[in-house]
Amino acid sequence: MKGRYLYSKHMDPILDAYEDEFLISVIGASENQKNIRCVKIGKGKKVVLGWSQMHGNESTTTKALFDFFKFLTQKDGFETEIATFLSTYTFYIIPVLNPDGAEQYTRENANGIDLNRDAIDLSQSESRVLREIFRSVKPDMCLNLHDQRTMYSLPDAKSATVSFLAPASNAARDVTDARRDAMGHIARMYRVLNHYISGYIGRYDDGFNENCVGDTFQKLGVPTILFEAGHYPNDYQREKTREYIFYALLSLFEITKEEQPSSYDDYFSIPENGKLFKDVIIRNVEIAGIITSVSISYEEVLEENTIQFVPILDKIGGLDSFFGHKEVDGAGAKILLNSHENVFVGEKVAMIVAENSGICLFS
Ligand SMILES: [Zn+2]
Repeated sequence: MKGRYLYSKHMDPILDAYEDEFLISVIGASENQKNIRCVKIGKGKKVVLGWSQMHGNESTTTKALFDFFKFLTQKDGFETEIATFLSTYTFYIIPVLNPDGAEQYTRENANGIDLNRDAIDLSQSESRVLREIFRSVKPDMCLNLHDQRTMYSLPDAKSATVSFLAPASNAARDVTDARRDAMGHIARMYRVLNHYISGYIGRYDDGFNENCVGDTFQKLGVPTILFEAGHYPNDYQREKTREYIFYALLSLFEITKEEQPSSYDDYFSIPENGKLFKDVIIRNVEIAGIITSVSISYEEVLEENTIQFVPILDKIGGLDSFFGHKEVDGAGAKILLNSHENVFVGEKVAMIVAENSGICLFS
């Protein structure tokens, strides 16, 4: 399983192949009557409930879960650690909570509802399926698995490749027992990931919103961890990020261990996510007689079964504090956007060229 566009067509055959190893069941249906499947692994006392692709177009953590399945069923190493994991934990995993959104490559479900704002209303069948399994398995910990956009930044112009959050359980953002527990797990994963991507790990905004599933579960006293798989340099398919989420899972379940223990308050040393990245910035260009910069952001569009990264002109000027995943120097040239002089925010970019020299700055 590779790339960004992953739904039941890709996943069902792989899940079917695991039926001898794991207990796999259909726990409900989406608004468009697609099966929502759940994988049960292990027989231990610690019950963990995880779900991915609550937002249909956020598949990186799903890929990491499949890597985790593969790891658990390989016979080449880690026998003792895997046996300990299977006897310590019972892990319920919903690889795709929003199968309609996954197929349509949308954040929302088939009715255009953001399921991560439906935790109080439970207006959608997917929300009710999640709440029902939450009630029936009574988890000791929940994993809310997502992707975040390329705009998220960290200090020193690094992108937020992996971000975590121990969601708040009230507006005062108190560190409750459940939250402290979640922070401790995050601190441990942070320590491990620092070996690989130091500086690229962030902490997500902890404003309380009861409509978000993580906040609600945390409020109900169950330690809940939000994972946000983000951009790694030049990895728009998120195959590197997938690997780091997999390492985080190994650390979370103590399959890999650190010599030095971490404390929950290490959580607060994780830098907070900023929003200072653009996909492309072309600096030092002339528009209407003024030297300025322009930025381009990619819009992900499903076309003929593949995801196209469609460049959209996103901002003109005011980009000094921003960073581009790709930076281009326009050398002061007057530019033509799609062969015309008028440059508008929101326009789809086929090509940007320097008018005089004809040098292509972006295509
Ligand atoms: Zn999400």
